[in-house]
Parts: sequence; C-alpha cells; structure tokens
Amino acid sequence: MEKARIAVIGGTGLYKIEGITIKEELDIDTPFGKPSDKISIADIDGVNVAFLPRHGVGHRYLPTEIPVKANIWALKSLGVERIIAVSAVGSLKEEIKPRDIVIPDQIIDRTKSRPNSYFGNGIVGHVSFADPFCNELREILSQTVSDLGYRFHQGGTYICMEGPLFSTRAESNLYRSWGGSVIGMTAIPEAKLAREAEICYGMLAFSTDYDCWKEDEEDVTIEMVVENLSANTRAAQEIIKNVVKRIPEERLCSCAEAAKYAIITDPSMIPEDTKSKLEIFYGKYWKK
Ligand SMILES: [Zn+2]
Repeated sequence: MEKARIAVIGGTGLYKIEGITIKEELDIDTPFGKPSDKISIADIDGVNVAFLPRHGVGHRYLPTEIPVKANIWALKSLGVERIIAVSAVGSLKEEIKPRDIVIPDQIIDRTKSRPNSYFGNGIVGHVSFADPFCNELREILSQTVSDLGYRFHQGGTYICMEGPLFSTRAESNLYRSWGGSVIGMTAIPEAKLAREAEICYGMLAFSTDYDCWKEDEEDVTIEMVVENLSANTRAAQEIIKNVVKRIPEERLCSCAEAAKYAIITDPSMIPEDTKSKLEIFYGKYWKK
C-alpha cells in the first residue's frame, strides 16, 4: 500500500485533481467506520499526495454527516503529516470578494451536533487549540497563492456553522460584529481532530458569495455561485500542483507533538478497546 505525507481534503466542487497520475485508490476501514470515500494516492512532482473528497464523490454527505473521525484516522494510517483543506465559503467582509482566497488563522466554532474529539470512552485529554491552523503550512500556502498571482487574504476568522441551511441575516450580521471573515460548514471538527492526531492543518478557503448580510448586492443567483465554484476549483487545482514541491519533509512546527502532554488518564486505566482505536495516534506516548 502506498504511503503519503501530504493530504488534500477537497470540498464542494473539488472531487479530483485534473492532470495528475493516480497511483492507487485505497478503500480503508477504520475503527470509526469508512471515510467519506476511497483515498487516491497521486504523484505530484514525484511526491505522493493523498486525496480525499470530503463529501464523497457525487457529494453525498451533509456537513453534519461527514465521517471526519474516520477520515483523519485513515489519513494518519497512510503516514499523513500535513493536510491541506479546501473549502468553499461565504464572505463576511466587503474586501473579501467572490473568488478571493482566504488562508484563515482562526476559527469560531458554532457547530452543535458533531462529535469533535477522539477523547472520551475512558480516556481524557485536552489538546491546545489556541492557533487552530499550522503556522508553517499557512505560510507556505500564502507564499504559493501570492506567487501564482491570485487575490488572497492572509489570516482571517472562519466561522463554522452547523448548516445545512445558510445563516439568517441577523446571524450573518452577528458574525460580522465578532470579526468573522468567512463562513463555512466544515472546518470543525476537521481542524480539531487533525490537531488531536498531531497532523498539521492548513486551509484554502474560496469565497463564492457575500453570504446574506450585504443587502445592496444584487441577488446571488445559482449561476453566479456555480460559475465562481468552478473558477475556484480550477484555482485550487493549480495551487495544489504548485504547493507540494514547496513543502519541506521536516516539520518545524509544534503540531507533531500537540498531544504530548495532553492525556490526563493513567494509561493503565484506559480500556483496551479505546486504547487500540487510538494506538495509531498515542501509542508512542504509552510505550515510554
Ligand atoms: Zn504544523
């Protein structure tokens, strides 16, 4: 089975990457069920990249239904150390125009019905999440997007809502008053579980529209959104093809040891079943 150190989780519109060689398609079983879909291992400039369509090919999972625990576990089992998440978002700021790219550095979690931790069932752990995105990966993404000449915004707060309905106008204005930059439905629990799994997580958020706060904007038509989505998909593919060769093998960030001091439960008290499911993440700490 092929391994990969870099993974791309594709969002709405990004179900595959055009023009690259797929070496293997993997159907992985995890202790948390099946991932959203098969994981393709692609070769980009001689580097293996795992690709997982977040909503499944054909877009079958609601944001709330995405099997994120299985997705992150499956990527970890392939040796993935860095995840580039691609997400379609609504803009909460005038200056973030449709088709602009945002590389967020913060998240406000407004989800309410999703499991968002691997801990529980006899193991207690608290991982730091003050900076939810990997700083090193954000830097590499920003540099690549800038060099390719796209309009982008470095940093910004991603509001993650439950969905599937979009926000009300009152909610949209509330999020603006909180300093939100973009709104989407999928950064949580992906970013949280990636951190618990000690995988770097960086995001390319592609703006498709102005959410519903901007009342002077002409009404968003489905055609406009679809057109922006496909332009965004082409941009995402170009960025991914160009970013891979800029990612160094060594990680200099703190993500790789994010859970080192996080687990509070006495290892001898952790139930065997829980331990075996999480061995892939924390086995290295238990062996000491
Ligand atoms: Zn990192």
